[in-house]
Amino acid sequence: MPSVAESPVVLELTNVACAYDAGRPAIQGISFAARRGDVIGLLGPSGCGKTTTLRAIAGFEPVAEGEISINGTPVAAVNRHVPPERRQVGMVFQDYALFPHLTVRENVGFGVRRGPAVDRRRRIDEMLEMTGLTDLARRYPHALSGGQQQRVALARALAPAPVLLLLDEPFSNLDPDMTYRMRGDLLRLLNTTRTTAVLVTHDHEEALGMADTVAVLRHGCLEQCAAPETVYHLPASPFVAECVGQADFIPGAIRDAVVHTPLGNFFVPPDYPGGPEVVVMIRPDDVRIDDAGPWAGTIHSRQFQGADMLYGILLESGDLVHGSAPSTQLLPLDARVRLRIDAAHTVVFDRHAERSRCVCKRDAARGRAPEGIRD
Ligand code: ADP
Ligand code: MG
Repeated sequence: MPSVAESPVVLELTNVACAYDAGRPAIQGISFAARRGDVIGLLGPSGCGKTTTLRAIAGFEPVAEGEISINGTPVAAVNRHVPPERRQVGMVFQDYALFPHLTVRENVGFGVRRGPAVDRRRRIDEMLEMTGLTDLARRYPHALSGGQQQRVALARALAPAPVLLLLDEPFSNLDPDMTYRMRGDLLRLLNTTRTTAVLVTHDHEEALGMADTVAVLRHGCLEQCAAPETVYHLPASPFVAECVGQADFIPGAIRDAVVHTPLGNFFVPPDYPGGPEVVVMIRPDDVRIDDAGPWAGTIHSRQFQGADMLYGILLESGDLVHGSAPSTQLLPLDARVRLRIDAAHTVVFDRHAERSRCVCKRDAARGRAPEGIRD
């Protein structure tokens, strides 16, 4: 079997823009591609254009600029619009949009209306089996739980064997326990069927945990499109940094080719493009609460997160950083603590040019091993 890297490109968006009512574009300059079997996570806050992007791919919104290709065939451009039913795309809507008057079996069978009856029956049986719905086949949607309804929507979308599956916040109506289970089930299903998918979500855990590539949208523009590890460790902007997890930005100044901050010194990488006033991104997993640490702080806030406790720590400089520690070790509010920074790499942004980004290896002063991650 060819590896994913050699798989054919199934979906390609090139410089796509869409505008409602000829107004300001809801999305613009959107370019990304998905190979067969890839899951693309479209991540961003409410209103940033995720659903619009998905609807443009499905064919429910015309594009105002650019081009969308599916399996190498242009399906949308300024003067081209292949209708949704001819794009071989399956869609799972946020509210599932099941037909209330049809049973589970009839809902799943809705998209497979061509071919001999025996083949159609076999395909529906197969989808019911794959999604664990066989025993519920005669039920109506109102008699199903949220998770079961979602499985029907998935089975219905996958039944016609679409080349591409589009999912719009598919877990937003499920409780957290069910969400975890369904994420695992969905990934297994996508893997088994080698289905290419675009998963829209505003939940960074979901995007990082499920997608091969995460596309972060802001105000209708693509801010970064990269592997989950890259958007987390090497965010292209402070916006991306915060979008994919807890991040603090410690002010610093570059002097003599070193970034000086209240949490120590950092190398300035040779390709750093910005000015001397910077912020250094710190993640909670970079901050260690350690009696032997060189920096002092006070516990300012505490959030229990299961295995970890997230502490807000006020530094003597007045800056706030967050650090995670095992939740078995409980520190009271206002406790004085010592810290060290244990980051393999650190991201530096120009304080006055939000989009610039550079990675430097820590820590110039203490000569830590230069284990950095680079683009
Ligand atoms: P998201 O899914 O990321 O929350 P949307 O794609 O739904 O964002 O919306 C992107 C932008 O387009 C928003 O500013 C929204 O108000 C606008 N928009 C969405 N749907 C319509 C519509 N049918 N008519 C006019 N504007 C719309
Ligand atoms: Mg939406």
